[in-house]
Amino acid sequence: MAFSIRTLKIRQQILLLTLPPLLVLLCAVGLFLYAYWLASTTMRAARWSADSIVASETLLRDLTEADMAVREYLYVRDSQSLHHFSNAILHIARDLSELKALETTNASRAAAIDSVQAGIASWESNVVDPTLGAAQNGVSVSIGSFLKQSDDRMSQLHKALVNQLTQDQTQSAELTLKARAQMRRALWFGVAVALLFGLLLLYLTRLVSQVIAQPVRQLIEASDRVSRGDLQPVLPPPMENEFGALSRSFSHMTLALRRDREDLAALNHFSEVVTQCTSEEEVYDQVLHSLQDRFRPRQVIIFRLKAEEDFLEAKAALAPLPEALRGWPVIEGRHNCKAVRMGRAFSVNDVASEPLCPSKFALPQQGSYYCGPLIAGGIIIGAVRLEGVEGRWTPERESLLESYLSGAATALSNLHNLQSMRQQANIDPLTGLYNRRFLEEYASKWMAMARRKGLPLGFLMMDLDHFKSFNDIYGHEVGDRILRQFSRTITQATRETNLAARFGGEEFVVLLPDTDAKTCLMVAERIRKAVEHMTVPSGSDKPLPQITVSLGVAVYPEHGETLEEVLQASDKALYESKREGRNRATVYIPQAEAAS
Ligand code: GH3
Ligand code: MG
Ligand code: MG
Repeated sequence: MAFSIRTLKIRQQILLLTLPPLLVLLCAVGLFLYAYWLASTTMRAARWSADSIVASETLLRDLTEADMAVREYLYVRDSQSLHHFSNAILHIARDLSELKALETTNASRAAAIDSVQAGIASWESNVVDPTLGAAQNGVSVSIGSFLKQSDDRMSQLHKALVNQLTQDQTQSAELTLKARAQMRRALWFGVAVALLFGLLLLYLTRLVSQVIAQPVRQLIEASDRVSRGDLQPVLPPPMENEFGALSRSFSHMTLALRRDREDLAALNHFSEVVTQCTSEEEVYDQVLHSLQDRFRPRQVIIFRLKAEEDFLEAKAALAPLPEALRGWPVIEGRHNCKAVRMGRAFSVNDVASEPLCPSKFALPQQGSYYCGPLIAGGIIIGAVRLEGVEGRWTPERESLLESYLSGAATALSNLHNLQSMRQQANIDPLTGLYNRRFLEEYASKWMAMARRKGLPLGFLMMDLDHFKSFNDIYGHEVGDRILRQFSRTITQATRETNLAARFGGEEFVVLLPDTDAKTCLMVAERIRKAVEHMTVPSGSDKPLPQITVSLGVAVYPEHGETLEEVLQASDKALYESKREGRNRATVYIPQAEAAS
């Protein structure tokens, strides 16, 4: 991959961004110090030249003064002049040592000063001292000769010193000019470096804002969007450094959030749909469909727990169950289902190596499976098994699945409760037969069907004979026992397609679809005879006298157009049976009504 600053780690990026200006700054400081050192050295040299000029001039002046003092003495012969001469000689010695001190580094100039010193010493010893000695001892001195010798010597010394002075002045002027030029160059150089430094900083600031600030800004914007609910924010382009890692982890986070949101929406939709189901089968279908959509399992089996019989029945499955299990698809004994026994879900990530459910009911041969109980209102009503889901069972996955199962269990339990409530509303509690309300409701539907099909619908109305006296003699409890036994007798004597109901007190009605009057009478006779053979324990030593029943038969639409009319007709036929002496069955005869 081509090198790019974006691929570097943040620390490297910062190093890369700070090192160039730092290097430029260091170079600038170094070069500036060098320039300053150069200029100050030149200035020092210029100053030294100036000092040298002053010292040479002083020497020249003192030398002239010494010469003048000797001349004065020769003319005036006073001690004052000698004193001046001594002073001047002392000054000359001082001046020479000052000059020497200035010339320690320059050998040729030091030699020149040595030669001047030697010249002065020679002038003093060869010219001045003999002349002054003679003059002081009273010997006549040729002033003219002295002046000539001294002038010669002085002229040589002056020449040497002036030569030196001229050299020094030239050098001083040159050095001062050079120092000024160097200072100017250092100044320009400083300005150029400052400009370069500024430009470099500007460029790097832009680069920093692109390389560091931009991804940070983009991540902040993305995070703002996520907090506003937009789970598909624009993220910085892929990078190989910490920002890249941060961006990737941010992207994973939003993906997880998106998945969670989708899961929640799917779960809400499932809960909504499942509560609208009107039958358990519909709930099973919905559960299978939703679990397949969300978890992509190979198999889903829904078990319902029959607590009284102590078994779990497989009610629905995504894939067909093995042939051998289809006839009797049950797990016998609730303890054989681990999820039901423990009251919580359990999962197996590898069936080859982990302990499985003891039921062994159509367990998968490989992969993973999950089994969770269906719990509604704290009561276990079944279990659901998922097989062959891709990936491992994680707590998050199990928790989501539990939410589905909880929704399904609640829906199943609600349906069950509704069903039993409906049943309770339609069932007579004493006999367990349907009540009058249900009979009328049901009879109306059957009559509509019979009308459409053009088939008859038979009505048997029956009333126990002299029942009041049973109550009076043996008590109300025995009366109830007779009513219960009588109900059982009716149920046994009729077909499953017939509907028996307690119409009121000790009156009962049986509905017989697709049955004409003749067949109805046969059924009535069967019931009548069965009642004759019916035995009910009296609760005492004295057995109960024989119980009999009278019956009336009417058929829709032959004996009445409406339910009310047919019921009235059957009641009239029953009355006829009573009138004829009881323990008999009579078919309604319209003419008989007319005759009576
Ligand atoms: P008949 O042969 O003419 O029908 O004479 P009967 O004595 O059966 O007369 P009727 O049909 O009028 O009697 C109704 C009696 O049924 C009155 C009441 O005491 C009794 N009965 C009604 N409902 C119940 C019940 O739920 N339990 C008991 N034990 N008796 C009931
Ligand atoms: Mg009655
Ligand atoms: Mg009666």
